[in-house]
Amino acid sequence: MADNIIQFKKNENMIIPDEPVIPYIKGDGIGPEIWDAAQKVVNKSIIFTYNGKKNIQWLEIPGGEKSYKATGEYLPQESIDAIKKYSIAVKGPLATPVGGGIRSLNVHLRQTFDLYANIRPIEYIDFVPSPMKHPEKIKMVIFRENTEDVYSGIEWEAGTKEASEIISFIRKKTGKALPKDSGIGIKPISEGNSKRLVARAISYAIEKKLSSVTLMHKGNIMKYTEGAFRKWGYEIAKELFNENTITEKDLIEQYQGNCPENKIIIKDRIADMLFQDVLIKPEEYHVIAAPNLNGDYLSDALAAQVGGLGLAPGANLGYENAIFEPVHGTAPSIAGKNLANPGSLILTCAMMLDFIGWVDSAQKIRSAIQHTIKNKTVTEDLAMQMKGAKKLGCKEFADAIIANIK
Ligand code: ATP
Repeated sequence: MADNIIQFKKNENMIIPDEPVIPYIKGDGIGPEIWDAAQKVVNKSIIFTYNGKKNIQWLEIPGGEKSYKATGEYLPQESIDAIKKYSIAVKGPLATPVGGGIRSLNVHLRQTFDLYANIRPIEYIDFVPSPMKHPEKIKMVIFRENTEDVYSGIEWEAGTKEASEIISFIRKKTGKALPKDSGIGIKPISEGNSKRLVARAISYAIEKKLSSVTLMHKGNIMKYTEGAFRKWGYEIAKELFNENTITEKDLIEQYQGNCPENKIIIKDRIADMLFQDVLIKPEEYHVIAAPNLNGDYLSDALAAQVGGLGLAPGANLGYENAIFEPVHGTAPSIAGKNLANPGSLILTCAMMLDFIGWVDSAQKIRSAIQHTIKNKTVTEDLAMQMKGAKKLGCKEFADAIIANIK
């Protein structure tokens, strides 16, 4: 079995066996049906591409509501151990546990494995219905900080002893009198976590030869959190990537707007302005590095601009582990009805294949999806926006994609 373990260590090249074991959690809500559909497509593409020379040994591990019913735990230790051991995992959406304990399984997993970078590529697939006039101009990758910001879960309800202690502390230190019935939340943003996220985004832009990295922030209002994210972003670009990068300011002041060859432009935008820009001039943005909450908002908005959550893939990367997951949640209103679009999870698996270097197989999957959409054979979420489309169930959409793997 040791031969089938992906070796993934900080600052070392990954070692990928031909038959790696990859654990997966089907997830809650629409998770099981989109998982079954995605797995079929991925397996078919691997067989088609590598003729039996490569193969994934899928290992189901418990997680979410199904696991809670069977074991009393939402995320048993055996699942954590398996992800640790095999380095890479894929998961469907998980519901937020009701009652105390873990607030969000997704956040818990990201924090357990220090999966500090959430990566969401946003790219238009031809023929997908979109509210934009020129959705084809959107080709961006969002690097969202994944471990801190308001997601650290440090908050106190209005009226609690802790909330009133903090209100008194604030009055003593700043003279500002907050309303006594305020709830309190803490927003930590650290230098180390900001810098490693921005560094990963810049490395990615260098590797993929992309033109710019934009630091998204609301630093004009939150100077020591989001403003600091901006400052640390520029600092790490200079410290580690001085050879490969140029700031937008230098580009204008020293180079009259003509970017020297092989340089990546580092720029920053205030969050509200960036939301406008990705609608009006999306072609100016390539990689976006954002603190946790901004990244969350922006990636859902951009997913909608290119056709919706049903086709939005994502990955969570750390130094020694990676968990791939679609952007959307459990969509309980359509769960179990064979209505969900498995495209997001299929594209998520394609990202995973890219990550382990099986790019030919990933490419075949993307082409097959594009072909299937071009044929107007799609799930309901897309069909209701496309004239003359044939509506397929989740399972049948996967079969149509498989038939288009060439
Ligand atoms: P959760 O509470 O787990 O976040 P949610 O329904 O509030 O679930 P999402 O799962 O992100 O949030 O979905 C929002 C809406 O987007 C869903 O109600 C559904 O209509 C649509 N949606 C999301 N994913 C898909 C999909 N894969 N296929 C079709 N529609 C989807």
